[in-house]
Amino acid sequence: LEFKILGTGSATPLLDRNPSAFMLSIDNYLILIDCGEGVQQRFLQHKIKYSRINHIFISHLHGDHYFGLIGLISSFNMNKRTEPLYIFGPNGLNDIISMQLKLSNSKLNFNLVFTIINPEVSETIIENDVFKIDTIPLKHRVPCTGFLVIKKASKRKILSNLLPENFPISYIKRLVDGENVFDELSGKSYLNIDYTAEGNKEKRFAYCSDTIFDLSIIDKIMNVDLLYHEATFLTEQQNRAEVTYHSTAAQAAQIAAKANVKKLIIGHFSSRYKTLEQFYIESTAVFVPSHLAVEGESYII
Ligand SMILES: [Zn+2]
Ligand SMILES: [Zn+2]
Repeated sequence: LEFKILGTGSATPLLDRNPSAFMLSIDNYLILIDCGEGVQQRFLQHKIKYSRINHIFISHLHGDHYFGLIGLISSFNMNKRTEPLYIFGPNGLNDIISMQLKLSNSKLNFNLVFTIINPEVSETIIENDVFKIDTIPLKHRVPCTGFLVIKKASKRKILSNLLPENFPISYIKRLVDGENVFDELSGKSYLNIDYTAEGNKEKRFAYCSDTIFDLSIIDKIMNVDLLYHEATFLTEQQNRAEVTYHSTAAQAAQIAAKANVKKLIIGHFSSRYKTLEQFYIESTAVFVPSHLAVEGESYII
């Protein structure tokens, strides 16, 4: 499970701070979370093979989180994409994109499959053998949702170098499932503990984009391995944070501490701040394993 940062700014872009966009790799799945403008240049800059993106999650309909979407869809089409593209986002996103496509007389070569997220309740919106994604209702000026990504624990790993040649595949499957195997033909037992090693543990990542300081999210993000939480302002602008339904660095750190997360990344910095040291100082004062989001950096969970 890898989380790559492509945008650390909020509202208006700066030369060195782009609007929100994040890449999540889960085994072979490539998922884009939020899609701020200029996202395609950042794919090129950071050598991301974006044609492999099949899922896009949009947290809310403020432009700094989705203005790159129509451009990306258009490029997929020009690059002759045929695979369906699954987009999860708030009510209205479908209308916006459909209108843009209709008025430019664009016919797509692939299916756009929209799923409208209910911003009021936490729901599982995707689940397969490898991962599960739940929504996290956030409090912002417009309906807004965070995402809890759970990479499931993997099965036990087979130690094939210890097994005899031509060991039957059906036996391997049983060992991986945690069973012991008795081979009647040879009268030999293969104990699971001898021929397999523990698989990967479950991993959890929570993405909380634009939100006012809100303790009600704690339950949902409890004990995650990595939390991304917005920190638009410093404490000196805490009133402004409240009025605009954003958080300060110290508030993000309080959420991380109360939720007992292993690591915190803060981002979505207001463009009024030209340097970010004070964000680090105010966040680490409350929660030590705090990191400032840096564009191009990845976190392996
Ligand atoms: Zn924003
Ligand atoms: Zn917003």
